[in-house]
Amino acid sequence: MIELLRLGHRLPRDQRTTTHCGLAGRALGVEKMWYTGDRDKEMENGLVNLTGRFGGPFTVEWSESEYVLIKKKKKEGFKIIHLTMYGLDFEKTKIKAEKQLLIVGGEKVAPELYRLSDYNISIGNQPHSEVAALALYLYKNFGLKKLFKDVKMEIVGSERSKVMKRNSEKAF
Ligand code: SAM
Repeated sequence: MIELLRLGHRLPRDQRTTTHCGLAGRALGVEKMWYTGDRDKEMENGLVNLTGRFGGPFTVEWSESEYVLIKKKKKEGFKIIHLTMYGLDFEKTKIKAEKQLLIVGGEKVAPELYRLSDYNISIGNQPHSEVAALALYLYKNFGLKKLFKDVKMEIVGSERSKVMKRNSEKAF
């Protein structure tokens, strides 16, 4: 079970980036995205609607405190994996845990978070993006997710046209 915590969501500035954390996370196997910061029903609904069409499981939930959430997840047996440019090289660090809570920032990540995390992992030691860091970590460790449940619409890869399958019908 892979879950994600996106820190410090700011309205309106982070709407797209947080949505993209959810989109990339869902496509690569994250089953739940938590977020802290500004509560954002519009962002949540966008992800819920997409999951309703393309399948899940994937849910989104706001949390008032990252610290309370992290402590709860630790008790549930999750390893806490913070993605940061200051961390240890993801290509050299083996993490085998089945339950993982991945964390991505935020503008400025508090030192406390580095201490609470079981692993601080870098996807290269260059500053880039939470979406890129998340996608690379997930792809390297788990690959693309192949099986989605409750799928209403499916995209069929095609060389030149947009092919969608809806309840076993094919439509353009
Ligand atoms: N100062 C931040 C840091 O600690 O990595 C960079 C801020 S960046 C705009 C927002 C988030 O992207 C970070 O909190 C981190 O989760 C992720 N990120 C950026 N570069 C990364 C890298 N090289 N490796 C892993 N995560 C990275």
